[in-house]
Amino acid sequence: MLNIILFGPPGAGKGTQSQKIIDKYKLVHISTGEVLRKAIEAQTSLGIEAQKYIDDGNYVSDDMAIEIIKEELDNHKNSNGFIFDGFPRTTFQAQKFSGILSKYSGDVNVMISLELEENDLVERLKNRSKESGRPDDSKEEIIWKRIEIYNQTTVQIKDYYKSLGKYESVNGIGEIDVIFDKICAIIEKYS
Ligand code: ADP
Repeated sequence: MLNIILFGPPGAGKGTQSQKIIDKYKLVHISTGEVLRKAIEAQTSLGIEAQKYIDDGNYVSDDMAIEIIKEELDNHKNSNGFIFDGFPRTTFQAQKFSGILSKYSGDVNVMISLELEENDLVERLKNRSKESGRPDDSKEEIIWKRIEIYNQTTVQIKDYYKSLGKYESVNGIGEIDVIFDKICAIIEKYS
């Protein structure tokens, strides 16, 4: 089973690349953000709770994120493997993750980090908001807040996977297909 974490700040292109990866390798895409947005749209109790955090650019609780992951794994028991997009986002989530995956007879193969400058991220997210209509993309102030939270809370997870010998980075600026080729080379090395 192949388990890949696609990592990077908001706006790095994780969603775009995930789509290409799942098509090529027949993996299941698990995006905690996407699950949360669907829950908000459906106004489930999870969605109503999550919306307070997400619209302001804050993270939801670790418990909430971990519950989503467990449920998604339960829903796709016969999969070849997974792309995790937007999870783990805290050291706590990363530490819990291996234990969770081991119950599904797997472990993380590699974390692939998309690297970009902050100003490029802000421009991308502002453009994305025109199509996505995501409230957390539409205000520059909220975008900067998400980048700040990423820098404070999330970026250090790289060190955790580096210490396990499971970390690779890719420049996130350039042609989508060129970035994708680099990602494929990494996936093949770790599979
Ligand atoms: P992006 O990478 O563009 O910020 P995502 O779709 O991954 O967007 O996530 C959207 C929002 O959902 C995040 O800003 C956060 O509020 C919440 N979220 C997603 N995944 C997690 C997680 N693992 N832990 C906590 N909050 C999360």
